[in-house]
Amino acid sequence: MSSVKDWTASVIKQAEIDKYLDGGKDFIDEEQIFADIEKHKNPDKQQVRDILQKSLDIKILTPAETATLLNVEDPELLHEMQEAALAVKKKVYDNRIVFFAPLYLSNLCVNSCKYCGFRAENKDEVRHVLTMDEVRDEVAAVIDEGHKRMIAVYGEHPKNGADYIADSISTIYSVKRTTPTGNGFNNIRRVNVNAAPMEIADMKKLWRAGIGTFQVFQETYHRGRYAELHPANTVKGNYRWRLYAMHRAMEAGVDDVAIGALFGLYDWKFEVMGLVHHAWDLEKHFGIGPHTVSFPRMQPAPGSFLSEHSPYIVSDEAMKRVVAVLRLAIPYSGLIVTARENPVLKRELINHYGCTQTDASSKLGIGAYAKKLKQEENPDKVQFMLGDQRSLDEVIRELANDGMITSFCTAGYRCGRTGDKIMNLLEKGVEGKFCKLNAVLTFREYLNDYASPETREVGEKLIARELQEIESMPFFTDKKLLPTFRSYYDRIARGERDLYM
Ligand code: SAM
Ligand code: SF4
Repeated sequence: MSSVKDWTASVIKQAEIDKYLDGGKDFIDEEQIFADIEKHKNPDKQQVRDILQKSLDIKILTPAETATLLNVEDPELLHEMQEAALAVKKKVYDNRIVFFAPLYLSNLCVNSCKYCGFRAENKDEVRHVLTMDEVRDEVAAVIDEGHKRMIAVYGEHPKNGADYIADSISTIYSVKRTTPTGNGFNNIRRVNVNAAPMEIADMKKLWRAGIGTFQVFQETYHRGRYAELHPANTVKGNYRWRLYAMHRAMEAGVDDVAIGALFGLYDWKFEVMGLVHHAWDLEKHFGIGPHTVSFPRMQPAPGSFLSEHSPYIVSDEAMKRVVAVLRLAIPYSGLIVTARENPVLKRELINHYGCTQTDASSKLGIGAYAKKLKQEENPDKVQFMLGDQRSLDEVIRELANDGMITSFCTAGYRCGRTGDKIMNLLEKGVEGKFCKLNAVLTFREYLNDYASPETREVGEKLIARELQEIESMPFFTDKKLLPTFRSYYDRIARGERDLYM
C-alpha cells in the first residue's frame, strides 16, 4: 500500500456493513430513543418493581423498560434499583471481581478523535510501536505484578494492523516468568484486544492467534455528535463501520465481544439506550449479547480541550445510575470499571452497583511497565490521565477487606465456555459455580506468589470462608466436583500452577 491515505481509503468494506442493515437502516433509531426516554418519564412504582423482578430473573430488558429505569428519580425507588442491581450481580457473579492489566502497544493513529491524546493532530505526542522484544519486556513486568489477564490496546494505523496485532497476541502468550517465590511460573492466560474495527478476514487472524474478547467502544451512539468528534475523512469518521464491528467479529468466530460508550461525549441516558439497542441487535443476529459492557468516563487527555470542557461531563451520581441501569438491563454481561475512575468511586461501583471487572497497577504510557514510569513521567506518550494508580496488591487488599474475592480465572474460553454456551450457563447461574472454584484456585496462586504480608492476612480469611461455602454447597457434591477441586487446591499449595475446572 503506497501511503497512509491509500490505506485509509481501503479499510472499510461496505458490503460487510450492508448485510446487517434492516431495510437500509441501522439499529440506532434516534427518534425512537428520544421518544422512549420522553414517554417513560415519572414512571409508576409498580411498573418499576415489575421491571426489577424481570432483571432478577436474569432477562435482558427491552429499550422501553430501560428508559423507564433511566427516568426513576424517586429516592425510595432509586434505592430499590440499587439493591436489585446488586442482587443481580450476586446471582450471576457472586462476590467475585476479575482483574486485568491494560497494555498499550502503539500510539500511532490515523484518526483525530477530539478527546484522545493519540489523535494524529497532537504533534506533542511521541509516537512508538513496540517491537516484539519490547512487548516481551512489558509483559514480563505485568506478569511480575501477579496479573494473568491482559487487554492489549492499539491506535489505528497500517503499522499496527491485524498482522501486527495477531503477532503481538502470540508474543504475549509466549512469555512465562518464574514466580518470585520460585513456585512454578506465571503467564498471561487470556489476551483481550481493544483495537479499531476490522474486516471479517482480519478478525479471523486474531481468532487464530487466540484472542479472548474483542472490544470496541462506539464512543457515542448519537450520529450528529459522532460526526462532530470524528472528522469525516478519517476511518473512524464512518459511524456504521464501527457500529457493526462486533457483528463482523462474531461472524469471524470471535464470540466474546465487548461493547461500550465513552461517557461525557453526549447525554448519558441516550448512551445507555444505545448500548441496550446494541445488545439486542447482537442477540437478534447471533443469539447472544455482549460478553462485557464498558462505560469509560472521559478523562483529561494531553492537548485535548474537549476532554475537560465537554458540555456532557457525567457526574459521579449519574455514573452510579448508569451502572445500576446497565446491570439491570443486560444482567448476564460483565461490567467493567477501569482505573480511569478515582479509587472511591471505583470501590463503590464494584461493591454497591454490580461492576465485575477492573484493572490495577495500570500504565498507559507506551513502554511504561518495563521502565516503571508513572504517568507524570511520560505525559507525551499517554492517551489520557488515570484516576487510580494504585498497585494490584493494594486494590486486591481493599476489595478483599470488603469481602470481594479476586479472580484471575481464564478457564471459560479454554474449556469452550464462551459465546452462547457461557450466556446460557450464566443465565442459569451454573457458570458462576465453576467461576467460584476457579476464583479460589487463582486467588490461592496469587496469595502464594505475589501478595504482601498484609494482603495475605486478609486474603487467607476470605479464602477460608470461600472454602467453607464450597464444601457446603449441594451443587458441588451433586456434580461430584469436590474431589477434583480439593486435589487441585492442594497441588497449587504445593507449587503447581494453572490448574482449572
Ligand atoms: N484506537 C482504537 C479505537 O479508537 O477504537 C482503540 C484504542 S483507543 C486507545 C481505546 C478507547 O479509549 C477509545 O475507544 C475511547 O473510548 C477511549 N478514550 C479515548 N480518549 C479518552 C479519554 N480522554 N478519556 C477516557 N477514555 C478515552
Ligand atoms: Fe486513535 Fe482510538 Fe485515540 Fe481515536 S480513540 S485517536 S482512533 S487511538
